[in-house]
Amino acid sequence: MPTDIEIAQAATLQKILPLAHRKLGLPEDSLSPYGHYKAKLSLGQVQSLADEPDGHLILVTAISPTPPGEGKTTTTVGLGDGLNQIGKKAIICLREPSLGPCFGMKGGAAGGGRAQVLPMEDINLHFTGDFHAIALAHNLLAALIDNHIHHGNALDLDVRRITWRRVVDMNDRALRDITVGLGGPGNGFPRQDGFDIVVASEVMAIFCLATSLADLQRRLGHIVVGYTRDKQAVTARDLQADGAMTALLKDALAPNLVQTLEGTLAFVHGGPFANIAHGCNSVIATQTALKLADYVVTEAGFGADLGAEKFIDIKCRKAGLQPACAVLVATVRALKFHGGGDDIAALTEGLANLRRHVENICQHYELPVVVSINRFDSDTPEEIAQIEAACKALGVVCVLATHWAEGGVGAAELARQVVALCEALPRKPAARLYADEDTLELKIRTVATKVYRADGVIFEPRAAQQLAEWQAAGWGHFPVCIAKTPYSFSSDASWRGAASGHTLRVRELRLNAGAEFVVAICGDVMTMPGLPKRPAALNIGVDEAGRISGLF
Ligand code: ADP
Ligand code: MG
Repeated sequence: MPTDIEIAQAATLQKILPLAHRKLGLPEDSLSPYGHYKAKLSLGQVQSLADEPDGHLILVTAISPTPPGEGKTTTTVGLGDGLNQIGKKAIICLREPSLGPCFGMKGGAAGGGRAQVLPMEDINLHFTGDFHAIALAHNLLAALIDNHIHHGNALDLDVRRITWRRVVDMNDRALRDITVGLGGPGNGFPRQDGFDIVVASEVMAIFCLATSLADLQRRLGHIVVGYTRDKQAVTARDLQADGAMTALLKDALAPNLVQTLEGTLAFVHGGPFANIAHGCNSVIATQTALKLADYVVTEAGFGADLGAEKFIDIKCRKAGLQPACAVLVATVRALKFHGGGDDIAALTEGLANLRRHVENICQHYELPVVVSINRFDSDTPEEIAQIEAACKALGVVCVLATHWAEGGVGAAELARQVVALCEALPRKPAARLYADEDTLELKIRTVATKVYRADGVIFEPRAAQQLAEWQAAGWGHFPVCIAKTPYSFSSDASWRGAASGHTLRVRELRLNAGAEFVVAICGDVMTMPGLPKRPAALNIGVDEAGRISGLF
């Protein structure tokens, strides 16, 4: 099997404008081409679709993953191609990959094998520049903060209580904690600061939840950048930053259209983290796709305890989306990992993780589910049979999907099962694990006990104080976004399988008043990753003809 980039570079792409016109009926002048194979769909066209009926929304999620990932993106792409193979009109919606991991360990994130979105080099590198625009909007606000203080600090911002950091789309641990404003009075007031990666920016989360330019500006204005000496919140609107930030983002907000290896259309737009943010592509892309196709396949980050829960409780709640069903991706590798070994006994043991996710999806997210085994070459027939038997005992459909090796035909059976689920059930609003009116504390307890199966939650003193302050300040109606390890149901990454009876410790909370959720940090959460000893960047290069190598 050739590498991902070899497959991608051997593909013949179709020009995106005629392709989008032919397949989706989009007028060519509603699309702004970025080269021949990427285009942005105008926000005007997005709005003109508002009264069209919605297609079926299919969420691709996974069992608790291993560090390299179990194939959600690959399955999302394969299923989109598979649906088209069986004659359905389907669109894919994905997050744009972050540049940081691309040069670090994980490599690209545009699918893999024969299930990829193209042009993969562009999608993994600068793409249409949206992440740069998001970084700039974020850093403009940071610059306005320090400038405001330099020129007299009329808002009385407490330099020790500024929560707005700076961002760059690179894994660079040296920037985690820094001091700015050194060098004397001409350079402002020295203060502690730091950088996060762009995908951790609240602007990214806002961008992905905004439903229009006006909603984007409203949310940007609500960002809390810090507090005054008497602890009053200071917002981006107080600094009059929201207008210019929106101006920087106006082109980026139009969703990006690309194609798969098989010519299925895909929106790749926005890409917030799945721990300290909600981990899904933009609401605008998902809503637009639903207007244009009968089936929309999308992915949420990490496993179903994190990404899918946030998809339901943050994205669907806020955007009024109604998912029709979920696909739970499972691999032999991850099941063995959860069983703590490398043989069939470990796999059997690890199935507890899969059962728990199936239960959560059916009971708490109230979605019908298909288990999709993402087949690796090393899987044996006994291992596959073991997973199938476990699903049968659970009463859920299980499909062996081979799109990674074979493209859309390898996901045709998965596509048929998904269509059957979508057609069998009437549309209903998305489930909610908790009500808007519940307190922030109750919301965190609800997710922890229902989804993570914790016995209880401990709020460390700082977190307890923040809960009380923000509840009183009128932010209690926000959903919560829990940041914990993706490798376990608990907040202890080494506790594999189906942890229960544990205690969730909430260390601190972060207020995202613009994105409209409160983040609960449990354990160590990295918002500025570092590079490994031998980063992927060392293998990346480009030849005389401009052909990139070493991306994977
Ligand atoms: P996720 O979205 O769940 O993080 P991805 O779909 O990005 O996972 O897949 C993670 C990595 O594993 C990618 O590099 C992909 O090419 C590779 N991969 C996925 N499925 C397979 C498979 N069936 N066989 C071999 N490699 C695979
Ligand atoms: Mg992915």
